[in-house]
Amino acid sequence: MKQGLLVLSTFFFLNSACQAQDSSESGPSILVVTAHPDDEAMFAATMYRITHALGGTVDLALITDGAGGYRFSILAEDIYNLDLTDPIVARTYLPAIRKKELMAGGAIVGIRNYFFLDQPDEGRTEDQDSIMAYVWDAEFISERLDHILAKESYDFVFTHLPIKPFHSHHKAATILAINAVRKISEDIRPVILGSFVTGMMDDVISSYTELEGHPETRIRKEDGPYTFDRETRIGLDDRLDYNIIVDWLIAEHKSQGTMQMFLGNTGVERFWVYDINTSDAGQRAYELMELVQSAPHIR
Ligand SMILES: [Zn+2]
Repeated sequence: MKQGLLVLSTFFFLNSACQAQDSSESGPSILVVTAHPDDEAMFAATMYRITHALGGTVDLALITDGAGGYRFSILAEDIYNLDLTDPIVARTYLPAIRKKELMAGGAIVGIRNYFFLDQPDEGRTEDQDSIMAYVWDAEFISERLDHILAKESYDFVFTHLPIKPFHSHHKAATILAINAVRKISEDIRPVILGSFVTGMMDDVISSYTELEGHPETRIRKEDGPYTFDRETRIGLDDRLDYNIIVDWLIAEHKSQGTMQMFLGNTGVERFWVYDINTSDAGQRAYELMELVQSAPHIR
C-alpha cells in the first residue's frame, strides 16, 4: 500500500481516475467480469459504495449461464417448485432463475447493465486452459468483451484474482478479461484489478504472483492491495456496516446453497493491480479505493 499520500479530492479524482469518462457523468465507471451468477459477492460492498457514494456506474459481464450450480440447490426447490438438484431440470430452469437472482442482488448494489454471454457452466476441472479450449467459445467471449469495452470506455475492470486452487471458470474469466483489456490502446485503457476478500484462502493469496502458464495474470506485488473494509460503519450512531449489503446480495442467490454459507462473513475487499496495466494504474486504483473507503453516502 502506498503511504504518505493525502486523501484526494473528488475533483482531482475525476480528472485522473476517470480520464475516459464522459463529462456528462459524475463518477467512475466499472465493468465486472465474472464466471457465475453469485461471483459478484466478492466485491459487493465496493460496488455498492461506487454507486451510492461516488455516483458511479457498475456493469457486469457474466460468462456462463449458471446451469451447473444445482448441487446445493435443495433449499430452493420449494421456493421455485422445481427439482433443482436434478441436473436435467437445472439445465432447463436454472439459467433463468440465476439471472433473476443475480439481478435482484444487482438492484441492491446498483448494477446498471448486464451482458450475458451464456457459455456452458460445465467442466469439473481445475484446468482453465481446457475450459477455454473445449468448453467455452473463447473467440466469441473475446469478441464480446472487446465490443463491450470499446462501447462503454470503462475506467476500471474488476475480476477475481486467479489463484490456482480456484474454480477453473473463475480463472478463465479473468484471463479472457485481462487479454481483452491489454489489447486496448494505453491512452484509453481501463485499469484492470484482481480481487479477493479476506478470510478465504489467505495463505494462497499472500504468495500469489501470477497463475502458472499465464504471465498476463502477474500482479504488481509492491502496488496494493487497495481495499474497502466491509465493517466500515454507517447509520445512526454508526451501528450499521456494509456487511449488511453483502448479506442482502448473497441472500438473493437462494438457489446457491454454498454461497449462503458465507452469510455473516466479514472481511476486507482487496484489489490488486495486474502488471499489464499502464504505469499510472496503481495511483488510479489507490485514488478510487480511497474514495470508496471515505466518501460520504449519497443516497
Ligand atoms: Zn463462481
